[in-house]
Amino acid sequence: MGCEAEGSALCAACEEGLQGRRGVAPGTPVGMPSHVPLPLVAHEWCVAYAGIGRPAIHALKYGGERRLAEPLGRAMARRWSDAGCSGDLLVPVPVHASRRRERGYDQAELLAVVAGRQLGLPVARALERRRATARQAELDRSARARNLRDAFGLRGGTGAAVRDRWVILVDDVMTTGATLSEAAAPLLRAGAIAVSALTLARER
Ligand SMILES: [Zn+2]
Repeated sequence: MGCEAEGSALCAACEEGLQGRRGVAPGTPVGMPSHVPLPLVAHEWCVAYAGIGRPAIHALKYGGERRLAEPLGRAMARRWSDAGCSGDLLVPVPVHASRRRERGYDQAELLAVVAGRQLGLPVARALERRRATARQAELDRSARARNLRDAFGLRGGTGAAVRDRWVILVDDVMTTGATLSEAAAPLLRAGAIAVSALTLARER
C-alpha cells in the first residue's frame, strides 16, 4: 500500500506519512470550514483524506487489507496522545451487520482495538447500525443527514459500559461529521458524560 514496496502492509516511510499532523495544535486549524460536529466535544485526526489517507482507507475497507489496521490504528493513538486528548473508552462507529458479514470484519472496530491497546483504554462495541444506510460517499450533504437519521442505537446490554464514561468514537474518516453526530446521540442518551471522536482522516 502507498509506495507498493514489497513486504509489510505499509512500509515505514509510508507509515511516517500518516503523521502529517505531528506538532499541529489540537482542534480545528484556522481556515478549515467546519468545526467539531455537535454534540462532540473534540475531534482529532491524522491526515487529510487525500495523499495516503484515501488509498489506505480504501484498501482497509474494500480491499480486504485488514493488516493495515495495525499501522493506521497506531497512528491514530499517537495523534490522540500527542494532542493531549482525554477519554475513558473507545467505541467504534459500526457498519451494518450485513456489511460486516459480507466484508468479514468492521474496519472501525479493528482500528479501535489497535488504538485502544496503544492508549491503554478499553474498547466497547456499544453501538449498532440499525439500518443498512446508503454509502455516505455517494450522497450529497443534505441526503447524508437524512440517510443517517436514527441509524445508530445502543447494543443490548452495553448501557452500563458507557454510563458516566467519556466515550471516544472511532471511525476511519470524518466527511461532514453527520455520522459522528448521529453515533454520539444514543451514547449520550445512555448517560455518557461526553463524546469525542478520533478518525484516521478528515475530508475537509
Ligand atoms: Zn511505502
